Amino acid sequence: MSNLNHERVLDVRHWTEDLFSFKVTRDSAFRFVNGQFTMIGIEVDGRPLMRAYSMASANHEEHLEFFSIKVADGALTSRIRHLSKGDPVLVGRKPTGTLIQDNLLPGTTLYLLSTGTGLAPFMSIVKGPEIYERFEKIVLVHGCRKIFELSYGEKVIANLLKHKLLGDLARGKLVYYPTVTREPFRNRGRITDLIESGKLFDDLNQPPLDIESDRLMLCGSPSMLADLQASLRRSGFLEGNHSASGHYVIEKAFVEK
Ligand SMILES: Cc1cc2nc3c(=O)[nH]c(=O)nc-3n(C[C@H](O)[C@H](O)[C@H](O)COP(=O)(O)OP(=O)(O)OC[C@H]3O[C@@H](n4cnc5c(N)ncnc54)[C@H](O)[C@@H]3O)c2cc1C
Repeated sequence: MSNLNHERVLDVRHWTEDLFSFKVTRDSAFRFVNGQFTMIGIEVDGRPLMRAYSMASANHEEHLEFFSIKVADGALTSRIRHLSKGDPVLVGRKPTGTLIQDNLLPGTTLYLLSTGTGLAPFMSIVKGPEIYERFEKIVLVHGCRKIFELSYGEKVIANLLKHKLLGDLARGKLVYYPTVTREPFRNRGRITDLIESGKLFDDLNQPPLDIESDRLMLCGSPSMLADLQASLRRSGFLEGNHSASGHYVIEKAFVEK
């Protein structure tokens, strides 16, 4: 397990029956770019049981934070849903991922489009000062089925807006747009529909997507990503990666098994 750091749980918070977040200690040598993910897990029967997780904390923070689903019969999450302070957690030493600024061409407005736990990498990104240097406006969209599933994101954003150093930057440039699909709320509907109908842009008082100025990062369910990607491709947007920057980048929030 030489490629794994042995960390300890500092704090656990349950947001809904199916969602929780937890903080763990961070090895001082563990470096990452905001938006990346790593493997995390626990030891089961003497062997590491690991899954990919995005860092929800920013790289300037002392601890690591993760925002997690609880899958009823999931090998890892049926166990880590019971984590408590002081418990051991394994953290892979090799963070990676495509949701990084350098994979995007220059632009003025950055759309961060997420569903469910796909919000996690964007929590890291909006807490880092560098994104506010690169873009004039950052629009964070989070889609969920029910209002209470938004609670983790709402709390992180509220804390960010109050933050001593980052609050001014975020208040000036960050626009948070939560939307739900299954109950009445001020913003309703699937992200793809909100984009295709133009409602998202009307609500935000923004022009429709413009390939010259708008850049996007997408993180969500495989079906949400497939729909959004098809729509972006039809408009000529190109996907960026480590070898060539593009108009948008994409990461699965989970893999269907
Ligand atoms: C690049 C990447 C980053 C990821 N980041 C996160 C993260 O920050 N937070 C997180 O909770 N998970 C994240 N995941 C998913 C994570 O790796 C695990 O799948 C998840 O923790 C469940 O593990 P499990 O062993 O309990 O169940 P698994 O056997 O891994 O999954 C069982 C089934 O549960 C469903 N599922 C798994 N994860 C999710 C999810 N996040 N949301 C909705 N349905 C899901 C899928 O249908 C999957 O087939 C990420 C996955 C990838 C590929």
